[in-house]
Amino acid sequence: MTGISNKKGKVKSASRLTASIKKDKVHPSDYLNYDTRFSCEDCSHFDSEKQLCTLGYNPIHHLKATQTEQFFLAGNMAFCRFLEID
Ligand code: SF4
Repeated sequence: MTGISNKKGKVKSASRLTASIKKDKVHPSDYLNYDTRFSCEDCSHFDSEKQLCTLGYNPIHHLKATQTEQFFLAGNMAFCRFLEID
């Protein structure tokens, strides 16, 4: 049987339907000292009225609020490799 091992029992959890998104570690001093642009809200491909990516990607992991929450929870963030700033 394929699936993910479950420490609480012998039954395996169902396999993920999709791979989890890759997140990069962010050093706290870098986060505090640099005024960086790495969110969808900073990207040329972001339609702020409709809250969607014009390239067709799901922006949920790259929105400023999601990245900030992820940083404070785990010290990492999901950076979009297609972010473009004009
Ligand atoms: S290209 Fe990436 S950063 Fe830009 S809007 Fe789309 S998902 Fe967001």
